[in-house]
Amino acid sequence: MTERTFSILKPDATRRNLTGQINAVIEAAGLRIVAQKRIHLTDAQAKKFYEVHKDRPFYGELVGQMTAEPVVVQVLEGENAVAAYRDVMGATNPKDAADGTIRKLFALSIGENSVHGSDSQDNAAIEIAQFFTDAEIVG
Ligand code: GDP
Repeated sequence: MTERTFSILKPDATRRNLTGQINAVIEAAGLRIVAQKRIHLTDAQAKKFYEVHKDRPFYGELVGQMTAEPVVVQVLEGENAVAAYRDVMGATNPKDAADGTIRKLFALSIGENSVHGSDSQDNAAIEIAQFFTDAEIVG
């Protein structure tokens, strides 16, 4: 089934000029980038986006890292896009990520792990709507 999911290329990726290399892996996995913009997340945007983690010890560090430098926000489309993108991202901690995954190839640490991807179709819809209007998504 064709689905959409939400992707962020995180500040550790933009800082190291890796957005093209990461998107090459995403596209090679059969996902299409149907919306994309480079933005600098505000403190309020990052806090809202990661609100589910607000009681975790790493929340402050996570918000700080996500707002330190620009990110690229994207909508990806493809067969079972939510699961397909999670597969190609790899495990949250790069030490646990499988060979060939984005986090194995590029992530620096569990915090600076290069990419975000929605964990469900419901969250994908919520996250996409936080950053894109329907008119900005061109499949
Ligand atoms: P994801 O869905 O694989 O991105 O993982 P989670 O939803 O569990 O966590 C969201 C993000 O919080 C991760 O991508 C990491 O950037 C960060 N994070 C998760 N666990 C830790 C941790 O133990 N330490 C730090 N510094 N960051 C973490």
